[in-house]
Amino acid sequence: MQELERGDSGIRSVASVQGSLVMFPINEYATEEQKMKWLPGLANGDLLGCFGLTEPNHGSDPSNMESKIVDKGDHVVLNGAKLWITNASAADIAVVWAKDEAGEIRGLVVEKDMQGFSAPEIHGKWSLRASNTGELVFEDVKIPKENLFPDIRGLKGPLSCLNSARFGIAWGAIGAAMDCYDSSLRYSKERTQFGKPIASFQLIQKKLAEMITEITKAQLLAWRLGTLRNDGKATPAQISMAKRNNVKIACDVAREARQVHGAMGITGEYSIMRHIMNLESVLTYEGTHDIHLLITGMDVTGINAFS
Ligand SMILES: Cc1cc2nc3c(=O)[nH]c(=O)nc-3n(C[C@H](O)[C@H](O)[C@H](O)COP(=O)(O)OP(=O)(O)OC[C@H]3O[C@@H](n4cnc5c(N)ncnc54)[C@H](O)[C@@H]3O)c2cc1C
Repeated sequence: MQELERGDSGIRSVASVQGSLVMFPINEYATEEQKMKWLPGLANGDLLGCFGLTEPNHGSDPSNMESKIVDKGDHVVLNGAKLWITNASAADIAVVWAKDEAGEIRGLVVEKDMQGFSAPEIHGKWSLRASNTGELVFEDVKIPKENLFPDIRGLKGPLSCLNSARFGIAWGAIGAAMDCYDSSLRYSKERTQFGKPIASFQLIQKKLAEMITEITKAQLLAWRLGTLRNDGKATPAQISMAKRNNVKIACDVAREARQVHGAMGITGEYSIMRHIMNLESVLTYEGTHDIHLLITGMDVTGINAFS
């Protein structure tokens, strides 16, 4: 994820969705038949998936989602809409979260050719332009019961996927910061002012030294979280802390890098502005910067300050 996002946050987003938000829930929650049907194609890239949780009226509060499934015997009927969905109009399948008649959140796989399902693309984004973002619209979509995840109920289904994706973002954002740092280091050695490379000025060195220090701290945080995850011990609050911190330092590094590049930093000749714009999405998706702060706040005080 770090190396993909060193290229572009949009490319890392496609990989995060495919791995953490589509393959992960199918592997964890689907029947053996569903796993055999979808996972090989998703793993080798023949199939692309998307993940529908956010709705037009519910972003930070997905527990109030309005999308609904109604039991019709051998199938369910899905109605509702999901917004800001990565890969939406390019995806072959969508892992969608909707409430059943008892008000419980269920997960199901919607296939692109199902009648009543459409996925219009959102145009005009100034961020994550390398990634497809769209809407999922469900109008009386008939879905066979075997496409439902049989046992998982409630918000813990989608949240378990987000935990995996947020860990990936904690690594990914560092990659964007590394590219900004590398570009700044190169540029500051080449660019001459007052007869010297700007890298010889203390204020430029301060920026470079602080960038590499924050990148190294973020890597240590993500690495430690990874070792905890390997032992099955990483908590959702620890993942929130890492996602929030590492995206924030990447935003800060990118803005400092923009200054090091002077006027050239605003052009498309360097990757800095592209990373700055991309990181604005990364700051908001998968739980906003402030929501993750409130999760840490709740973790340390035991008091929920967001609902
Ligand atoms: C490019 C992009 C790709 C995305 N991809 C996907 C995807 O693939 N699948 C998917 O399901 N979603 C996706 N999202 C949606 C994303 O997860 C949501 O945008 C995010 O959860 C925030 O929801 P919102 O935009 O509705 O903002 P809101 O929830 O309306 O928040 C607006 C502001 O209010 C603040 N706020 C909200 N509640 C509180 C509170 N209790 N206390 C304090 N402040 C609060 C927020 O921090 C934020 O600053 C994507 C978004 C973007 C931009």
